[in-house]
Parts: sequence; structure tokens; C-alpha cells
Amino acid sequence: MGFSGLRILREGLTGNKGWKPHWRDPEPKAEYDVIVIGGGGHGLATAFYLAKEHGLTNVAVLEKGYIGGGNVGRNTTIVRANYNLPGNSEFYSHSLKLWEGMEQELNFNTMMSQRGVLNLFHSDSQRDYAARRGNSMVNQGDDAQLLGPDGVRKLAPFLDFDNVRFPIYGGLYHPRGGTARHDAVAWGYARGADMRGVDIIQNCEVTGIDIENGQVRGVQTTRGAIRAKKVGMVVAGRSSQVAALAGMRLPIESHVLQAFVTEGLKPFIPGVVTFGMGHFYISQSDKGGLVFGGDLDFYASYAARGNLPMAEHVMEAAMTLMPAIGKARVLRSWGGIMDMSSDGSPIIDRTHIDGLYVNCGWCYGGFKAVPGSGFSFAHLLATDRPHEPAARFRLDRFATGYSIMDEEGTGAQHNLH
Ligand SMILES: Cc1cc2nc3c(=O)[nH]c(=O)nc-3n(C[C@H](O)[C@H](O)[C@H](O)COP(=O)(O)OP(=O)(O)OC[C@H]3O[C@@H](n4cnc5c(N)ncnc54)[C@H](O)[C@@H]3O)c2cc1C
Repeated sequence: MGFSGLRILREGLTGNKGWKPHWRDPEPKAEYDVIVIGGGGHGLATAFYLAKEHGLTNVAVLEKGYIGGGNVGRNTTIVRANYNLPGNSEFYSHSLKLWEGMEQELNFNTMMSQRGVLNLFHSDSQRDYAARRGNSMVNQGDDAQLLGPDGVRKLAPFLDFDNVRFPIYGGLYHPRGGTARHDAVAWGYARGADMRGVDIIQNCEVTGIDIENGQVRGVQTTRGAIRAKKVGMVVAGRSSQVAALAGMRLPIESHVLQAFVTEGLKPFIPGVVTFGMGHFYISQSDKGGLVFGGDLDFYASYAARGNLPMAEHVMEAAMTLMPAIGKARVLRSWGGIMDMSSDGSPIIDRTHIDGLYVNCGWCYGGFKAVPGSGFSFAHLLATDRPHEPAARFRLDRFATGYSIMDEEGTGAQHNLH
């Protein structure tokens, strides 16, 4: 079932009775060529690209809950390609290009809006780093503009420019960054994969990974055993637990990240703005709500919910940067479980078990990576060779020290973020 202006008009005039569910609800088969564990953004995109790019359609995505119930439906929707280090830079650049063609590729409205990302700086040294990062972005073929205070004032006049402690020196502006409707991304990839024959199986938790003589044979689930030639683990905040089913210990810590949304207000924030002197960022949703967040919670946890100390911490940063926000009423807050790697960069790799692959370590930045990660992981699963833009996301870098990539020197050290 395709979407088009004509179709929408026809359905509107005939009582919207012709729409069908976007994906089937199949029973698991006894065996698949590839099983993808985790129906988040990354798992669904992987399944889509396995089918579309590699013609592999005997594929199942096993999701313990429902599609979009994990972090893919809990994030603050920011999409960008403004990384500094080789390894990350080319990967996110590739991912942003896929974002730009996503709605056409999926024939689905993901509300991708390139409204710009502005990273503020508040000192000379931060300005130097912003200039260096901007140069890396431009060298990579992406866009970056270094703005002084006047340039920032034009884009975001609502900020507190005269803050005595943290005056705004300028900002690094990335016009092609922006936001997208997070759960629509999950639905779009789910629909696209299903249309190509992939089975999306919800309410199906993987409880064991079957391995014989160093080779994966399939998985145990709450809906029975399923055999598979290859298995990909793509479970974000649950990565350590699922890898433990195969006897593996990952260099991952799980931490909660919270976000907040206010009542709807008239549009006044043009894009995404991030504070340089505290971990605070904000954008405005299409419904008018101010969507914002800040630091990780200061302890490892599997509880996907918020707490008051972090609410206070984030609100303090918000009031420092834009005191006008004090008049807005917060409607709700929520939390998601982040798979924090020790160098803050992801892992897309084979494991020491034949046929078992891992995709994790997206920390709090994995939404923007969804298309790129799905594309690269599908390439690895199908060909057994790394996809070039993701070639440095190796699991063994934590053992060898080779190719460690830490943008900020913070890794999983939560109180440094
Ligand atoms: C508050 C918040 C704000 C964020 N903001 C941004 C942002 O602005 N920009 C950005 O780029 N990133 C952001 N992120 C990070 C981003 O959301 C994540 O990195 C990304 O969504 C993780 O990948 P995923 O979508 O595949 O994860 P998920 O959606 O969590 O998918 C993993 C799935 O695996 C399933 N699963 C787990 N265990 C099993 C099992 N045993 N069997 C079967 N299924 C299982 C889970 O139920 C889940 O659905 C944010 C995250 C949070 C929480």
C-alpha cells in the first residue's frame, strides 16, 4: 500500500476505510537466514536494508515489546552530522545523506526537518574547538558555519546573551542538521521491511542464544526456539544482557537519559540549540512543545524512568541559557536506557562466535545513526565484510587500544558528560 496525495484525497472522501495495517503480525517460522534481535530503529533499518540492498528476505526481527517502545520512540529526535574524528565523521555524514532521502526511500512521512543545529560556545578555547570541528565537517563534505554573537543573536534572540558567568561568544551552525518524528522512523522502516517479506515479530523476547561448536544455530524465545544461520544483536540499552546470553561481556554500561517536554507554545525556536557550558539542548516540536534534555543520570541503571535530581539539574541549565523558559509549564518527562561504550563511539562488528554479530554502543546519539547503522550492519551481516564508513567501529578496539574514538574524552564516565 503506497502513500500519495491522490490516495490520501480518495481515502478522505471515502471515510478512510481503505487503509490496511502497515505490517503483518506473522507467527515465527522454524528457521530464518538472519534473525535481528531488537525492533528499535537500528534493528528495523537493518532488516529493511538486508532486504532492499542484499535481497535477503528470509529475515525476522524479534522484538520483546512493541515496535517503537524502546529508545527509538523516547529520544529528542535530533539528527546531525557534526562529528570531528575520522571514523565517526564519515559514518554520520553517510547517515545524514540517507536521512535526506529517507521519506522517498520509504514512501513514508518521517517529518524530517532540516531546521539547523546550533552549538554555542562560551570561551576562547571552546571557539577554537568549534572552528576545528567545523573544518572537519567541511572537509568531510558536510556543512558548518562559525558564527559570532551577532550571528547567534539573529538565529536565537531569546537566549541570555548578557549572562555574566557564561556569555555567548558564538556558535557552530550546522544547517543540514535538524529533527525528525522518531516513532515514524521506526514505523517507516518496519513497513518497508515487511513489504519486502521480512517478518516483524512483536512480543517475542529472546531468552537464549544457541551456539554449537563456536557457531550460532538460533535463539530461544518466549515464543519457542527459532533456528537461524546468522543472528544480529541490536538491543541498545539491553546490549550487555543479551550478549551475556552468548557468554559475552561487552564494554558497555547502561545509564538512564531523561528528556522533558512543555505545553505547546507559538513557534520561537528555529532549530536545535545546545548550551556549551552545561549539558542542555532544546528544540521545539511541530506541535509547539519545547523538547529538551541534559545529562545522563549519575548511576548505571535499567530503569527507563526519570527522577527529580536530574530534572532540577536540567532546569537549572535551561534557566541559565534562556530564562524565558521559566514561564513554560513542563507536561511530562521520561527516560530511556543508553548503551554507553567506554569511548563514546559505537560498535558494529562480528563477534568471536561464527554467525553472531553485534551492533551497540550508540550512547545518547543513536537516533541520527539509525539509517547509517542499519545500512552498515546489513552490509556486514550479508557480506561478512565491514561497510567502509563503519569500518572503525570494531569490538576489539577496547582490547587492542587501536582506533579508539572519543569525541569528548568522556566515554561512559557519566559525570564528565
Ligand atoms: C531521552 C533520550 C533522548 C535522546 N535523544 C537523542 C537525540 O536527540 N538524537 C540522537 O541521535 N539520539 C538520541 N537518543 C539516543 C537514541 O534514542 C538511541 O541511541 C537509539 O534509539 C538506540 O537504538 P534503537 O533505536 O535501536 O534502540 P531501541 O528502540 O531501544 O531498540 C532496542 C530494542 O531491543 C528490544 N530488546 C531488548 N532486549 C530484547 C530481547 N532480549 N529480545 C528481543 N528484543 C529485545 C527492546 O525492547 C527495544 O525495542 C536519545 C535517547 C534518549 C533516551
